[in-house]
Amino acid sequence: MSFTDAENTTFETFPKSTHDHSQCVKDALVQALAICQGRGVRFTELRKQVFELVCASHKPIGAYDILDTFQKRGRKTAPPTIYRALDFLLEQGLIHRIASLNAYIGCDFPQEPHRGQFVICKLCGEATELVSHTIDKCITVTAEKLDFQVQSRVIEILGICSVCQ
Ligand SMILES: [Zn+2]
Ligand SMILES: [Zn+2]
Ligand SMILES: [Zn+2]
Repeated sequence: MSFTDAENTTFETFPKSTHDHSQCVKDALVQALAICQGRGVRFTELRKQVFELVCASHKPIGAYDILDTFQKRGRKTAPPTIYRALDFLLEQGLIHRIASLNAYIGCDFPQEPHRGQFVICKLCGEATELVSHTIDKCITVTAEKLDFQVQSRVIEILGICSVCQ
């Protein structure tokens, strides 16, 4: 479920523990497949499996945790293979990288181009995405005034979620 407020910010309920997560993963997979087909890029079995692992929870997951899972499943997978799959998913906007955690999370709004803005609970690790056009515009306008070339504009807001408080 997502909401849009008066400031034109779109956000998902947080934390998401109350929703039907298996449906959420199914929907994400269907959507990812459709997006890749629409762009004529290949959603290979490996890319799909990596995507499923990133979407397995709403807690950002590190590349080495993904690698671990592959190895526990008896798959001999080298780190570059996982990184290549993650890079593909990042390029297609299906996942985001959370720099402060060095981890990845599924994108809630893969159909629309946007920059990631996240609220992240420091206790349970759950994260959710916001798309605030107000924040985005503010960055663009400020950068223009400063004649500053923005290269990364992912915003990570750390705190404690309503469940953990
Ligand atoms: Zn979910
Ligand atoms: Zn996103
Ligand atoms: Zn929490």
